[in-house]
Amino acid sequence: MIGNFRDNSYDVIVVGARCAGASTAMLLARKGVKVLVVDHDQPGTDTISTHALMRAGVFQLRKWGLLHAIIGAQTPAVRRTSFIYDGEALDIDLKDEDGIAALYAPRRTLLDATLANAAAIAGAELRYGTGFSGFVTDDEGRVIGAKVRTPTGAIEQVRAPLVIGADGRRSAVARAAGAQVTRAAQNSISCLYQYVGGLPNRGYRWHFAPGAAGGVIPTNDGQSCVFVAVPPEVQADLRKAGPLKLDKIANRFVPALNDDLAGAEAASVPVLFPGLPGFFRQSAGPGWALVGDAGHFRDPITAHGITDALRDAEILADAVIAGTVADYPALRDSLSSKFFALTDRLAGLDWTMGEVQNIHHALNRAMKANQRWVAGTNRDLPIAA
Ligand SMILES: Cc1cc2nc3c(=O)[nH]c(=O)nc-3n(C[C@H](O)[C@H](O)[C@H](O)COP(=O)(O)OP(=O)(O)OC[C@H]3O[C@@H](n4cnc5c(N)ncnc54)[C@H](O)[C@@H]3O)c2cc1C
Repeated sequence: MIGNFRDNSYDVIVVGARCAGASTAMLLARKGVKVLVVDHDQPGTDTISTHALMRAGVFQLRKWGLLHAIIGAQTPAVRRTSFIYDGEALDIDLKDEDGIAALYAPRRTLLDATLANAAAIAGAELRYGTGFSGFVTDDEGRVIGAKVRTPTGAIEQVRAPLVIGADGRRSAVARAAGAQVTRAAQNSISCLYQYVGGLPNRGYRWHFAPGAAGGVIPTNDGQSCVFVAVPPEVQADLRKAGPLKLDKIANRFVPALNDDLAGAEAASVPVLFPGLPGFFRQSAGPGWALVGDAGHFRDPITAHGITDALRDAEILADAVIAGTVADYPALRDSLSSKFFALTDRLAGLDWTMGEVQNIHHALNRAMKANQRWVAGTNRDLPIAA
């Protein structure tokens, strides 16, 4: 049924106002597209995610004129990445590549708010406390808009020829569209993370130990985000024994990480991600598309979801402008395919220290290929897995 839309008409409705949705909306609005963004969260709120950006993500922020806002909010520069294999450290100092000489890990409260603010400045309308609750379709079943639940609980119909789901890994837009999983990962980590104060900025520190991983990510307010990853069944057993304690789990599974935590003071309670295997979903159909985790989720062990979301926001926005939305998923999939397979291998947490280093070499090559594609210095697609 077509409702009475009055002025409630847009060119595009984006569901989800975080890194994928806000970026897509900003890019479209900058091209003069009339965009509505809805999110049932409130602006500037946190979400379950650590937030290390890789070079391609930092590149996108700089290209969009937003990196200065991240740096201006005292986000510490990360100039070294250390891989610590069962206590043996391999330190890599960052060189300037594609004009990016430092990485950043802004809190999501800052990153998502910066992107949403840029979308609003570009002319997108943002409605918070507002949830997508289904498509509006015409007599042939084609999507012509969305039903949204307003903060008062009323259902409103909004018209647009394209509804973009940027609503995360449990996407309601994907469900409404009947989007099928086209490729599923085998493995998943379970991850416990916590903010701590009192640690020096030693760059990104990625730890690997038999059957577990962990890391330290310097972020805003003089804090570091510390995480430990173990198989979901191990985490489930630990939970049966009582409340999860990050330092205890680190001490037991990744002792060298525990050494990194000397002098740390808890600045938040621990947050648990119980685990979810990665996937690619069918990400475009008549009147709808998916971007960010809604269309493609990869295990957080490689800390690449936000960087990918920024890349895919641009690919999708360009496709909307060019009228080639149906082609967008194929490009995204070929850019992400190899990385996805390697991430899945890493998420198995069943490698030897020699094997994990080989996976890292391959990941590095896939990441560099992606980075050069994003920077436009080499548009050859990474060889698919
Ligand atoms: C434990 C963990 C650690 C991670 N660490 C990293 C890392 O270090 N680096 C990295 O790059 N990536 C990391 N990731 C991945 C990263 O969090 C995601 O890739 C990223 O959040 C995807 O952004 P998104 O905008 O697609 O979705 P989300 O960030 O999930 O945002 C979706 C938005 O949609 C809204 N929404 C959902 N349903 C509706 C609805 N029906 N109506 C209206 N709004 C709706 C939600 O409120 C939310 O605001 C991690 C993920 C996890 C789980």
